Amino acid sequence: MSSSASPETVTVAIDGPAGSGKSSVSKEAARRLGYGYLDTGAAYRALAWYVLDRGADTAHEQSVLDAAAEFPYAISLDPDDYWVRVGDTVVTDAIREPRVSSAVSGVARVPAVRERVNELFRALVEASGRPGVIVEGRDITTVVAPDAPVRILLTAAPEVRAGRRSAELSGQDAAAVADALHRRDAADSQVVDFLTAADGVTVVDSTDLDFPQTVAAVLDVIATKIHD
Ligand code: C5P
Repeated sequence: MSSSASPETVTVAIDGPAGSGKSSVSKEAARRLGYGYLDTGAAYRALAWYVLDRGADTAHEQSVLDAAAEFPYAISLDPDDYWVRVGDTVVTDAIREPRVSSAVSGVARVPAVRERVNELFRALVEASGRPGVIVEGRDITTVVAPDAPVRILLTAAPEVRAGRRSAELSGQDAAAVADALHRRDAADSQVVDFLTAADGVTVVDSTDLDFPQTVAAVLDVIATKIHD
């Protein structure tokens, strides 16, 4: 991304699996730095929501491609005012529903969809008007922004990730949440390897860290890399 973003926009790439804390940690780190925050998973989720809204099946590739061709997507990069829209519909909460989470991997495995949203991510960073943007997802350190000055893989032990996700989704059965998370990880890891750090990527393992400690660890990596 550094090749296409304006030179003054610092890209911080953060990858990690579901429940690693990357969304909340990235958002808070962006807030502290006055940076933008780009949640790339939201684009895949919103497209899955859109396919379902059209009464189609995300396992059917042509339906996904048809939906992607006319996908009216918008997202806020403001960490203090986060929203996601498809056309005039605000889908910020709807895209977190279990029916979307279990359909999203079908959308994410279509290469043409990935290429299209990656272009969109680069354009959003370029137009952010912020000194930097923290971009979080699964393939940001490797595909979307392999040249970013800061690249982090945020990990946590699987049982810790499942516990965090089930705490977020209170009211849902913990075992079912853990099962859905592991199933999504398995499907996603066939498309991108988000469990191994690529060359030059710094691993932050949050298994034994609480939220403020994880934010501090990420800010530390950013400060070190940017002042290198
Ligand atoms: O990060 P989040 O869990 O919201 O991502 C939702 C889904 O979007 C993932 O399960 C994965 O299928 C897809 N995704 C992806 N590449 C990214 C971000 C998300 O394939 N960079």
